[in-house]
Amino acid sequence: MSFLIDCPLCGPRETGEYRYGGELQTRPLPDSPVSTWSAYLYERTNVAGIERAWWFHRAGCRRWFQVERDTRTNEVIRVGWTLPALTTGAGADG
Ligand SMILES: [Zn+2]
Repeated sequence: MSFLIDCPLCGPRETGEYRYGGELQTRPLPDSPVSTWSAYLYERTNVAGIERAWWFHRAGCRRWFQVERDTRTNEVIRVGWTLPALTTGAGADG
């Protein structure tokens, strides 16, 4: 399903111009246990609701930015180079 993402530099474009870069996550500290690093690298929440993720504008400005989107409707809620911190936790089910 295609939808529009409003690139901070280029404006609204079809999703075919972008590459999905994965959910926003907090990188573990270097001395974190292997299980923490494994979860960081391989586990995804795949939330049905509000998701914050990285997107790359491969057919445009070739810049990475962040998108907050409802994965149930593909409604883009906000876009930015970096989104402000959530107070309820990233990836919280909406
Ligand atoms: Zn762009």
